[in-house]
Amino acid sequence: MSEINYDYIAQYIRAIRPESQGILKEIELKLANNEESWPIIKPEVASFLQVLLSLQKPYKILEIGTAVGYSSILMSQYLQPGGKIITIERFDLMQRQAKSNIKKANLQDTITILEGNASDILPNLEDKDFDFIFMDCAKGQYINFLPHCIRLLKDDGILVTDNVLHKGAVAKSKYLVPRRQRTTHTRLREFLYEINHHPQLISAVLPFGDGLAVSHKIGGKNIE
Ligand code: SAH
Ligand code: MG
Repeated sequence: MSEINYDYIAQYIRAIRPESQGILKEIELKLANNEESWPIIKPEVASFLQVLLSLQKPYKILEIGTAVGYSSILMSQYLQPGGKIITIERFDLMQRQAKSNIKKANLQDTITILEGNASDILPNLEDKDFDFIFMDCAKGQYINFLPHCIRLLKDDGILVTDNVLHKGAVAKSKYLVPRRQRTTHTRLREFLYEINHHPQLISAVLPFGDGLAVSHKIGGKNIE
């Protein structure tokens, strides 16, 4: 089911997408058969990431929120030769499943899982040379993680953030009251405001999947 669009549109877009292969297909099937339940990016988000990554050809990717490694494995297909992904996950059950999937895909040398809470790990990350960051973790934290994402991205890097409209609720006017209650929705609104007004970012909020934000880091210049 689509979170924020007409179901028939989301279903149509999903139906014309080529079938996934290998371990990605395996993960999708387990989910579809309700053998397991874990979060993975929606197919239309997967397609969009594929387009961006095949255009950008990144060398280093940072992901916040590994879950079972589905999006990491998908993104790894678009790395330049020798490229790497660092992905952060705090939940041990997810870490274990991600490791097993990454091993099955023979990507242990490409994808490194950092185990722990991103709020502890991000401030200590020193590589400031990520071409691409995919943020897909606890939505209430996006506003806190944003300064780290900007610091860790190269100039000309891209930040993609998932689930920014949270089933559409973020766009409803009852959440306009700023800061009084810092709920997930008001925090998401602050995040969306910030990426739209930050002098180093050019951003677009896209109403598909559960809402996706794309931000291009343009370096020190102010763009009017
Ligand atoms: N990107 C994955 C899905 C991620 S779901 C995919 O598409 O395949 C979100 C994951 O983020 C969950 O596994 C959750 O445990 C993890 N997470 C949420 N908040 C986090 C945080 N602050 N630090 C580290 N991991 C976090
Ligand atoms: Mg998500």
